[in-house]
Amino acid sequence: MKVMKFGGTSVGSPQRMQQVTKLITADTEKKIVVLSAVSGTTNALVEISSLLAKGDRIAAKQKIDTLEAQYQQFIKSLVITPTGINLAENIVKEHFEFLTIILRISYSEALNKDVLAQGELLSTKLFSAYLMEQGIAHKLLPALDFMTIDANDEPQVEAIRTRILSLLGQYPDATLFITQGFICRNAKGEVDNLKRGGSDYSASLIAAAVQASVCEIWTDISGMHNNDPRIVNKTIPIEQLSFDEAAELAYFGAKILHPASIWPAQQYNTPVKLLNTMEPEAKGTLISGQATSSGVKAIAAKDGITAINIKSSRMLLAYGFLRKVFEIFEKYKTPIDMITTSEVAVSVTIDSDASLPAIIKELEAFSTVVVDYNQTIICIVGNEIAATPKSIQQVFESLNEVNVRMVSYGGSAHNISILVAAELKKQVLQQLNSGLFGL
Ligand code: ADP
Ligand code: ASP
Ligand code: MG
Repeated sequence: MKVMKFGGTSVGSPQRMQQVTKLITADTEKKIVVLSAVSGTTNALVEISSLLAKGDRIAAKQKIDTLEAQYQQFIKSLVITPTGINLAENIVKEHFEFLTIILRISYSEALNKDVLAQGELLSTKLFSAYLMEQGIAHKLLPALDFMTIDANDEPQVEAIRTRILSLLGQYPDATLFITQGFICRNAKGEVDNLKRGGSDYSASLIAAAVQASVCEIWTDISGMHNNDPRIVNKTIPIEQLSFDEAAELAYFGAKILHPASIWPAQQYNTPVKLLNTMEPEAKGTLISGQATSSGVKAIAAKDGITAINIKSSRMLLAYGFLRKVFEIFEKYKTPIDMITTSEVAVSVTIDSDASLPAIIKELEAFSTVVVDYNQTIICIVGNEIAATPKSIQQVFESLNEVNVRMVSYGGSAHNISILVAAELKKQVLQQLNSGLFGL
């Protein structure tokens, strides 16, 4: 059994859905196909939800109507038979009626998650209608019946496995299953999600749960590139990455993969392939337990970082100081990404400011706190990079003249991270691209 995940652009038009159909019917291996929402839909739903949160029902209604008109257009070229048209029209009607009803209910966080879930529900049901019209046998597996997160918002593979195997067991002869990425149920049983870009995470969790032969992530680019192609002029695809390398790149900002999507694959040793729906013959990237070479492989950048410098008011970094600092971050469930220490102070970075005022207040009870907003972590990744002196030398030579706020080296054998002001990101990525890859 294999898992194939198609992102928003890959299902972004009726023609793309036809292309996806070709790819999923190219061989006879049993498969679970995980779909994202049609590209642009989740962004539109986020906007609708935030208008509702502000109480602006008129603007929300306008956005809902615009989105509905886009779906009406979409189904016109997706299905052609009376049965297919009827089915697709009913699907669109059902989900837009739901959004219209939500307009009348008072806004809550749970409602927000319900709104966001409509994208994946629409894309999978419409795709299923298309497959039905084409006479392609398949089963729609509702992700809300098996994908769950626990009270800490963490998915547990074993819990997912029990439920998905029981669902699959109901259709012993089926060879093609379609399901939603991104959406899940939380510990309270409410509709929730795996955060933006979460369909990759759904796919790798499902692949781990069913012990798939491979987890294929089909997107709009031919694999992981050595640098962010949206920012840097010249980038090249990487043929092979180890789980460790891919996990670091995903966590530190390579948008092609959800930050948490590698751990299930790594833990359950499921190979992951990054492939291009628009160019299926391209090699893409294979991510597996093997690392083929040492030294620098790729660079990623993570935005929206806040750096906090915490200086002990006792002028010496007494034992117990770090524990006190970390306990505060733990209390507010705020993960720390980078850490550097000196004799009297520690600097840490976080990617969520939600609890920052409360954290600062508690830190100020025993230290002086200075906060730098709008920072970017640049992460240079490669197998055993920390043991490759030439790589380190090249990294620092490439950073010539750059004002670096923090450096983290040695925490992982596969990563060197630096922190710079966000406005330097493009320049630094470009300089590293030339210095490390000669591009
Ligand atoms: P999908 O909708 O298929 O999930 P995403 O937009 O989430 O696709 O991810 C693919 C995009 O990730 C690419 O189009 C590319 O612009 C961006 N990206 C950022 N960093 C990288 C990288 N290092 N390699 C490849 N793509 C990257
Ligand atoms: N549709 C969701 C998003 O846009 C999940 C995904 O595409 O992976 O974030
Ligand atoms: Mg994505």
